[in-house]
Amino acid sequence: MSRIFNFAAGPAVLPDSVLERIRDDLPDWQGRGMSVMEVSHRGKDFVEVAERAEQSFRRLLGVPAGYKVLFMQGGATAQFAAVPLNLAGVGDTACFLNTGQWSIKAIAEARRYVEVEVLTDEQASNYTTVPEATSIKVPGGAAYLHYTPNETIGGVEFPYVPNPGSALLVADMSSTILSRPIDVSKFALIYAGAQKNIGPSGLTVVVVREDLLGRARKLTPTVLDYAAMAAAGSMPNTPPTFAWYVAGLVFDWIDAGGGLEAMGQRNAAKAGMLYDYLDTSGFYANPVHPGCRSWMNVPFTLHRSELDKQFLLESRTAGLANLEGHRSVGGMRASLYNAMPVEGVKALIEFMQDFAQRHG
Ligand SMILES: *Cc1c(COP(=O)(O)O)cnc(C)c1O
Repeated sequence: MSRIFNFAAGPAVLPDSVLERIRDDLPDWQGRGMSVMEVSHRGKDFVEVAERAEQSFRRLLGVPAGYKVLFMQGGATAQFAAVPLNLAGVGDTACFLNTGQWSIKAIAEARRYVEVEVLTDEQASNYTTVPEATSIKVPGGAAYLHYTPNETIGGVEFPYVPNPGSALLVADMSSTILSRPIDVSKFALIYAGAQKNIGPSGLTVVVVREDLLGRARKLTPTVLDYAAMAAAGSMPNTPPTFAWYVAGLVFDWIDAGGGLEAMGQRNAAKAGMLYDYLDTSGFYANPVHPGCRSWMNVPFTLHRSELDKQFLLESRTAGLANLEGHRSVGGMRASLYNAMPVEGVKALIEFMQDFAQRHG
């Protein structure tokens, strides 16, 4: 295989071995004479794939008893609506921590369904910070506290889990799920679009405390109703079967690599290498406060921003793809998800050193 290093923010890089396995499985999956994409989601063969993927995910993340794991559709964006529809009544208050672009989108969607109180807002730092843990005071009576542990666009990450007081804690983990071990028991609900650390787009994994099922508003669409999804084994209708199958392969790959403990160590090392270089280069800079820099998404700028286009052109030629920053912020961004090998980060730093030398 001739592969480049893909630093895209999402859909993002998948492990080589998973892609090779998919290639080998297609078009004759396990000797059935057809691909996994072509079999019924209700058939024994696919149900086995689906259940096994769920079990692997539960084991990897350490999901305790008393939580449901749902495989849903509509991306994280559908969850921006599903969360208030399932966890808050009309007129209830939901609290938010605003740390950047994905928080802002979650807040805007929630406002359609619930009274929103934004407890903290990092706008003053241009979203390069997270709030002090002690500054988060969730008012009594709030239905839930929603936050974004990793802001994919800004590259800002919480180094702690906020205290929701008596409210439920809800986290959009789209770009950080499975990047390290977490304590699921601290959360009422976790959701994540698959296309960063889990697999192909089209699948959203939701972990929800079982006692919260059955509270959805009457007008909630069935496919966004956690209780209805749980009752149907996440299949009230046709699920994204191919994405689900690939997710299972990715879970196996993480398992074979030592699970989330090992994954976390690798991710910390990868990000650390890049931040160390950015901070000492004199040619590049990362704007995020050092206490809350993301392991997954590393935005950076060139001091001579007139060289941005040249940087992108040359990096692509050097086999380093998709380094342009999000259209809303410009500059560069290197996403270092689980499937980005350490060799990719080393190659990026070497290229950056060389580019700086030639243009510095
Ligand atoms: C990518 C992303 C989303 C959007 O996911 P969709 O699947 O496109 O709806 C939401 N939140 C975060 C933190 C993300 O990284």
